[in-house]
Amino acid sequence: MSAQNVLNLIKEKNIEWVDFRFVGLSGKAQHISLPAVEIDEDTFVNGVAFDGSSIPGFRGIENSDMVMMPVTETAYVDPFTAHPTLIIMCDIFTAEGERYDRDPRGIATKAEEYLQSTGIGTDAYFGPESEFFIFDDVRFETGMNKSYFEVDSEEAAWNTGRKEEGGNLGFKVPVKGGYVPVQPVDTQQDIRSEMCRLMMEAGIRIDRHHHEVATAGQGEINFRFDTLTKTADNLMKYKYIVHNTARQHGKVATFMPKPLFGDNGSGMHVHMSIFNAGSPLFYEKGAYANMSELAIYYIGGILHHAPAIIAFTNPSTNSYKRLVPGYEAPVNLVFSKGNRSAAVRIPIAAVTPKGARIEFRTPDSTANPYLAFAAMLMAGLDGIKNKIDPRKLGYGPVDKNVYDLSEEEKKDIRSVPGSLDEALDALEADYEFLTAGDVFTKEFIENYVEYKRAEAKAVSIRIHPHEYALYFDC
Ligand code: GLN
Ligand code: MG
Ligand code: MG
Ligand code: MG
Repeated sequence: MSAQNVLNLIKEKNIEWVDFRFVGLSGKAQHISLPAVEIDEDTFVNGVAFDGSSIPGFRGIENSDMVMMPVTETAYVDPFTAHPTLIIMCDIFTAEGERYDRDPRGIATKAEEYLQSTGIGTDAYFGPESEFFIFDDVRFETGMNKSYFEVDSEEAAWNTGRKEEGGNLGFKVPVKGGYVPVQPVDTQQDIRSEMCRLMMEAGIRIDRHHHEVATAGQGEINFRFDTLTKTADNLMKYKYIVHNTARQHGKVATFMPKPLFGDNGSGMHVHMSIFNAGSPLFYEKGAYANMSELAIYYIGGILHHAPAIIAFTNPSTNSYKRLVPGYEAPVNLVFSKGNRSAAVRIPIAAVTPKGARIEFRTPDSTANPYLAFAAMLMAGLDGIKNKIDPRKLGYGPVDKNVYDLSEEEKKDIRSVPGSLDEALDALEADYEFLTAGDVFTKEFIENYVEYKRAEAKAVSIRIHPHEYALYFDC
């Protein structure tokens, strides 16, 4: 889509406002709206100015002028505004006209350029499965206004549909019992269908939607894979539509990885493959799981650098409440075909030359998708370049359920970091692979670590409700 196409679209759809968006370190979209009558060809050349100093993790006030440069092919009509509005995602530039090196979207673009510069392939494809909860009222449903003295699995159940003690529990979803029941147990068929309709109108191709494993309210919508930056753009669109459709129904949607103690959390498994000029590079008939050596090295890179990249794929303190045994979230840094307890799974049901891919199951949707996908690609490419063989480094394959292995069998298996601070330690110790081709700069990593350390600290210095259960009577 050219600038002229966007201007035509503005006329054709009687657009009143053009909404320029960007994504800072937090991974949340931010926006500034301009009257459509003020938009012309120049807007696409000069961009739209904003104050970078008010964005956490961006510039100081002494050097705060920044510019959003609209990416025309990302334009779509906002389905939620009363005044017809066109949304356009932007790259961030400095006032001097250079790419801003802390712009996550810019880093995603550089990661794709880096892939091409290595000669390994032309396109990296990403397919995220971003799970979420829809609650009636966030404060009640998540137990946020309740005492944590009683929070356990049973409490989680009461919070999400079994509200009346002694009431009728028919057609209610038990804890961990939510995988694909039909209505009336699934109360969210229509709301998910509505989300999908709006996504399709916004240009996303939908594969399917369903209720997820956790008790009432967990859902998942799958959309078609695409190249790295486009998929990150689609994920931003996806989250915007999920949040706002829920809102329109008087509900609230959350991508928080572990909103309910004692039940499954919400992950964002990410499927990946690399193609070279239309040819898939991950397939080799007859090999283990029909995966090529190149794919196995890519897995080696992901697993070897996992503790570091997890600082991007699981960047919240809450992320680590999900990465615990027993809830289909991976804890072990191994790969496997089919096995969902491994951090990297090869979905064998889908192994055709073009469908051959790997699934990294650790990430969750608090990830900034631009940074997380870029970090995953850089880790995988490092694996390919340095022939990092996961079979020689103790990363499997493990085709048994890792949760069921004996202590002896498990003793050499490495685990994901146990906290955001541990992941940040790992990133500080291992980031050179990210700086290849200047995709991530050292300065960016240092700033990111500082930004996230402050978040971890803000949580750790607060008094946790469960501390009352443990210590109040002392
Ligand atoms: N909710 C699980 C997780 O946290 C995944 C469940 C599934 O998709 N099978 O990753
Ligand atoms: Mg899925
Ligand atoms: Mg799922
Ligand atoms: Mg999956």
